[in-house]
Amino acid sequence: MDHVVGLRCLVCGEVYAPGKVEYVCPHHGVDGTLDVLYDYERIGASCSPKDLRRSAEQGMWRFRPLLPIEPGSEVPPLLVGDTPMYPVPRLAASLGLRQVWVKDDGRNPTASLKDRPSALAVVKAAEAGAGLLTTASTGNAAAALSGLCAAAGRPCLIFVPASAPPAKVAQLLNYGATVLAVQGNYDQAFELCLEGSAAHGWYNRSTGINPYMSEGKKTVAYEVCEQLGWQALDAVFVSVGDGCILGGVHKGLRDLLALGWIDHMPRLYGVQAAGSNFLAEAWERGEDPLTKAPIDAHTVADSISAGLPRDRLKAFAAVEETEGAFVTVSDEEILAAIPVLARGSGVFAEPAAAAAWAGLVRAADFGLVGPDDRVAVISTGSGLKDVAAARRAAEQAGAAPIEIAADREALERALADHGIGRGEA
Ligand SMILES: *Cc1c(COP(=O)(O)O)cnc(C)c1O
Ligand SMILES: [Zn+2]
Repeated sequence: MDHVVGLRCLVCGEVYAPGKVEYVCPHHGVDGTLDVLYDYERIGASCSPKDLRRSAEQGMWRFRPLLPIEPGSEVPPLLVGDTPMYPVPRLAASLGLRQVWVKDDGRNPTASLKDRPSALAVVKAAEAGAGLLTTASTGNAAAALSGLCAAAGRPCLIFVPASAPPAKVAQLLNYGATVLAVQGNYDQAFELCLEGSAAHGWYNRSTGINPYMSEGKKTVAYEVCEQLGWQALDAVFVSVGDGCILGGVHKGLRDLLALGWIDHMPRLYGVQAAGSNFLAEAWERGEDPLTKAPIDAHTVADSISAGLPRDRLKAFAAVEETEGAFVTVSDEEILAAIPVLARGSGVFAEPAAAAAWAGLVRAADFGLVGPDDRVAVISTGSGLKDVAAARRAAEQAGAAPIEIAADREALERALADHGIGRGEA
């Protein structure tokens, strides 16, 4: 990995040679998350945006020269990345904005953005000669790791809170993962996974402690910029649980800026659920995210429920260094955003993904984004991930199926009663 210079501890700034540390800074334990440093001159001299477009690699691996893997490493065969991004003019207009795009990362193979870091984890585990792969997860990272491990023919062990949505657990089981449903919350599952890995030498993909996860997640930012012809945005909205996606998006944009492929850094907005607002609270109160005590997290958006965000330093830096903001949204606003986004764009999002849209609605209301801003909203997971929440969202929007008898007369009565098809023929 000649293009990787080292790994820098975000607490003390110490830089470690690649291969000298596996997960975190030895001096700072789980708090000492590491940032991967690159030799941008070397990368820039050997590849250009055009080369990436023409690459023989698929999906996120087109960006291989910018990823921390060995040149000869084999990647899992599942197609990850290259997800669509849509302009959403009707939705934009409803907020008084003109240029808004929705990046649908629910279109990944296991239906969330987590396929990007998990694919990278499978490669890093193989490079490390690891046997069993493991992760703690609210559900999507687990589904992603299970799917990618299945594709690569590798075993994995998953720690999820017993409350994880059934669709996510069903994915894990069908992919053949060994699933430990922990009677506790995500934070407890995380600790247990950490202890087990330390004791048994498993390869741990868990967010925050594994420095490569934000490197996988950053590929979504590359794609967004590429899809806009490398014309940088002004604002990006990302929902935040552990903060790894937000930190990853920031990292991707920092890479592109360092390479001169984009000309300015967009403002980054981290959207948190009101009941899981560790970072938003720290940011508003001027508290140090490193030492702030964990909160008790509760939200309908299970994927962003985190009492102690594991990548809080990367997430905090993303907002601070880009002059963005943290925005909080209520569970009601999150559920309301699901049908709004689905009807306005055709993108069906799970609660945590719709939260990013709800955050843009808030931000537009506060005047944080203006009519001329070019804005991207990352939809991080599919609505099919949590059907119970989707059903609640539809109910809250007043939408319900119309029940009718199985005869023509009943059909005509229903059409008349509900004014169906009028003015459309
Ligand atoms: C994991 C996840 C998030 C939050 O990502 P973090 O890195 O934990 O902040 C948001 N949305 C979905 C759908 C996710 O799976
Ligand atoms: Zn350190």
